[in-house]
Amino acid sequence: MGPFCSASLSSCFPASFPLLKLTPLFPPLRLTRLSATNQIRVSVLAQAREWIEDAQSIAVLTGAGISAESGIPTFRGPGGLWKTFRPEDLASPEAFARDPKLVWEWYLWRRERIAAAEPNPGHRALAKLEAGGRQFTLITQNVDGLHRAAGSRNIIELHGNLWRVRCVDCDFEQEYRLAPSAPLSPRCSCGGLLRPAVVWFGEPLPVAAIDRAIHAAQHCVVFLVCGTSALVYPAAALPQRALAAGARVIEVNLEETPFSQFAHLSLRGKCGELLPQIIHVPPCPEPRK
Ligand SMILES: [Zn+2]
Repeated sequence: MGPFCSASLSSCFPASFPLLKLTPLFPPLRLTRLSATNQIRVSVLAQAREWIEDAQSIAVLTGAGISAESGIPTFRGPGGLWKTFRPEDLASPEAFARDPKLVWEWYLWRRERIAAAEPNPGHRALAKLEAGGRQFTLITQNVDGLHRAAGSRNIIELHGNLWRVRCVDCDFEQEYRLAPSAPLSPRCSCGGLLRPAVVWFGEPLPVAAIDRAIHAAQHCVVFLVCGTSALVYPAAALPQRALAAGARVIEVNLEETPFSQFAHLSLRGKCGELLPQIIHVPPCPEPRK
């Protein structure tokens, strides 16, 4: 069985890119800020808009880029340090087993920053696209909940959700908006510790979510890749799966990525600026009497 076996998917994907040797279906149109003339820019945006308007089925993959535009820090790099810890030393089952209060303290700090952020026009454009009534699946690697806050509903959260908790003993899961004054280390009714319901370092992604995401990628007419370099497996396999299944793939990202050469359209810029330009959803027609 190849690297796309359906069982235990998360363990099947290699860490390096690319997984598949894909040949672009036709020369991709790339849009760079420096080299593109206005004419090319307009035609590429118009082509993306036309494909999206015509598609009855759309899947979208989003990543840290779209959250960063709302001011969500990446929690990495010099500005992302919390006390003297690295995220890798806090976001792991071992760290939680060792010191759950310390891990919760870090998550409360992150929650405070995320709570202050709002969905940007990119989030809202995607929610508007879903509200247009077509088949729509939003696959996100973000844990901040901003897509839901923007109005998106059919969301697959590959890495979980920072506003949910899961019991380490019985796997009970629920939304949990912990007030800043609440005691740290909340507990489940079974007595087990409640942990943030996100995927930590060293943990596999939920297989059911990956399976749903792959199904959506393989059954869409247009696949949008927004604000992610799509380098980390298994999410990185999704645009490749969509391409292999014949979907039109549109990438929206600030920088060129290793995937850009395979996308049918690759747009350079912010999600919050480009998505509202390529997502024009006419108002729902009046139902016939
Ligand atoms: Zn429990």
